Amino acid sequence: MPDGLAVWRVLRGAGVKLVKFIVVDIFGRPRAEVLPIEAAREAFLDGVAYDGSSIPAYTTVNKSDLVAVPDLNAVYVESWNGGKTAIVFTNTVDGGKPHPMDPRNVLRQAADYAKSRGYAPVVGAEVEFFLVRGVPPAPADSGVYFDGYLHGDSYAAVEEILGHLEASGIGLSKTHHEVAPGQYEVNIPAGDPVQVADQILVFKIMAKAVAKRRGLTATFMPKPFWGVNGSGMHVHVSFWKDGVNLFASRGEPTQELKWAVAGVLENALRNSAFVAPTVNSYKRLVPHHEAPTRVVWGLGNRSVMVRIPYYGGRINRLEYRHPDPSANPYLAFAVIILSALAGIEKKREPPPPVAEVAYELEEARETPPNLGEALKMARDGTPLPGQFLEAYLRLKEREWEEYITAEGSWETTWNKITK
Ligand code: GLN
Ligand code: MG
Ligand code: MG
Ligand code: MG
Repeated sequence: MPDGLAVWRVLRGAGVKLVKFIVVDIFGRPRAEVLPIEAAREAFLDGVAYDGSSIPAYTTVNKSDLVAVPDLNAVYVESWNGGKTAIVFTNTVDGGKPHPMDPRNVLRQAADYAKSRGYAPVVGAEVEFFLVRGVPPAPADSGVYFDGYLHGDSYAAVEEILGHLEASGIGLSKTHHEVAPGQYEVNIPAGDPVQVADQILVFKIMAKAVAKRRGLTATFMPKPFWGVNGSGMHVHVSFWKDGVNLFASRGEPTQELKWAVAGVLENALRNSAFVAPTVNSYKRLVPHHEAPTRVVWGLGNRSVMVRIPYYGGRINRLEYRHPDPSANPYLAFAVIILSALAGIEKKREPPPPVAEVAYELEEARETPPNLGEALKMARDGTPLPGQFLEAYLRLKEREWEEYITAEGSWETTWNKITK
């Protein structure tokens, strides 16, 4: 474990001028206190004091002083800002204990719990996003899936992002143009769940900054354009025991993998408000756009909710296709890990895998039609600590209430037509 002063010295020696200490909020949005490197020395030793009452659900105004403790294993240099700024993730503590509303704490506890039961979770993510420009925003290019004719400013932005992923320490990644115009995908390499969730946030910060400098906007909205594919954030999961991947096999899925699939599917509906947490998420979960609408699994099938990647008969993980990039990755990973673990511990057998296109399957359960329904399903026992669950659902229910009672642009446009 590095010590705070040593990390501070390395950053100062590398020419870092500013340190951004990040507190992640309940919705997965990074909040930050920015300190000049000289002032950051104290923070590396004692943590950063902040007003927890200004972050939804963290604490109340009368007990607002919280401390964010730097996570010395979660330091990234912003190469896209010329290496002048460093990002340091923090864990919030309250009275010396992990604060229950900090999503990094929630995920760490879920992963540690799985480990304590003998299963070390490893996750990876494919993050899809759109590059758009103008008002109203339009796709930044007219490319197609795996486009090999890529050129122009959107492609240049993606190329630059790939370089920064490596330079900032996230590692070698890969990218391709996705199915919809202006849509790309970046893969975050598999690893420790908290680390991968951190890296998704770093990637989003980076993508937004690089796009903006080039006159574009990077959006992680799940369904920005009607009628074409939306953006998913497929999560890949394996469970390891004594350095062995329990989901690895040739030909047939292992028993542990099947139990895990069953656990993920069994909890999929009550987890929906965490993996697909926004009003817009449910506009993505519609048939025929490679997003799931039925709670089923299959091998090499991209219309199902859990796909087992099956290239040449080699299996090493499950792919959960329900999440989208508006999800708080810490919470999405936490519910997925706990659901897969429950399936294994209860030895739940999944229904038979589906080989056909899943959208029209009559008998299968369906994803909720909207956020309001997803929130009701979440009240039926999402596997998260009760205090956290209650706070999250209350905020989200307010959000749904606001959406459903406000007049939207669709209505105003429609009124113009009928008037
Ligand atoms: N964009 C699709 C989704 O919403 C996925 C497409 C793909 O990666 N093949 O999940
Ligand atoms: Mg992919
Ligand atoms: Mg994709
Ligand atoms: Mg995928």
